[in-house]
Amino acid sequence: MSKSHPHKARKRFGQNFLHDMGIIRRIVACIAPKEGQRIVEIGPGKGALTEGIISVTKRMDVVELDRDLIPILRVNLFRYPDLTVHEADAMKFDFESLANEGNIRVVGNLPYNISTPLIFHLLSFAEKIDDMHFMLQKEVVDRLAARPGDNLYGRLSVMAQYYCRVESLFIVGPESFDPPPKVDSAIVRMMPHKTLPFVANDLKMLEDMVRIGFQQRRKTLRNNYKGVLNDEDFAALGIDPSLRPERLDVEDFVNIANHVSKKD
Ligand code: SAM
Repeated sequence: MSKSHPHKARKRFGQNFLHDMGIIRRIVACIAPKEGQRIVEIGPGKGALTEGIISVTKRMDVVELDRDLIPILRVNLFRYPDLTVHEADAMKFDFESLANEGNIRVVGNLPYNISTPLIFHLLSFAEKIDDMHFMLQKEVVDRLAARPGDNLYGRLSVMAQYYCRVESLFIVGPESFDPPPKVDSAIVRMMPHKTLPFVANDLKMLEDMVRIGFQQRRKTLRNNYKGVLNDEDFAALGIDPSLRPERLDVEDFVNIANHVSKKD
């Protein structure tokens, strides 16, 4: 792949381009693309990951916001006529529009400045997605995969695990990128549940209850849910109100949301 194109990496687009072929091959091996699969890449940049995937699948959709990168991407991938480039903001992109023949797979070395809101946006399409593989700031991967009781367990862990099985795969150091980011990165695999293990009757309520629950991590549940849940409610839910929020699992938060929806 040609690296001679002049393009200055833009911080505001979270651009850190992968150049370590060993890491690129390892990521593609984790994705394990198959011919004909519909894989959608967010932020293809100059195509570091794209080529390893499209050379197997033969077709691919990519969503890229920086229009100056698109001609470079097209030149680098000129051998693949079935590459469809969507010049768009992934945060506003309707991923369901690509799931017309069946579910899609989503991959990307995501722009770190928008990774959390982007993951929330993608979770809203979870039913249409078979799996997602992302490179993210390591701390975000740790948050996504954290289990009850872990330091980083919080709102992102609960909402991601409501929809998906989350697996942290491996760490990637800054030297694999150009320019190198200031922090370690990691690869995460997120597999949306085919059937949700616990179903919130009102999603907005679940989001609200998770947000309220973690408002003050050092405080007890009784404190955080003041005015929302009383001791009778906690007793009915079988939850000890003197616990801190990080002790609750996804099922507990779903039970709280469904209990409050019923009360209202
Ligand atoms: N995939 C390339 C690689 O691994 O070398 C580039 C990764 S770079 C970390 C993030 C990419 O996402 C850049 O190409 C950037 O222009 C693109 N990007 C940033 N914000 C975006 C957005 N809102 N929607 C789509 N692409 C975006």
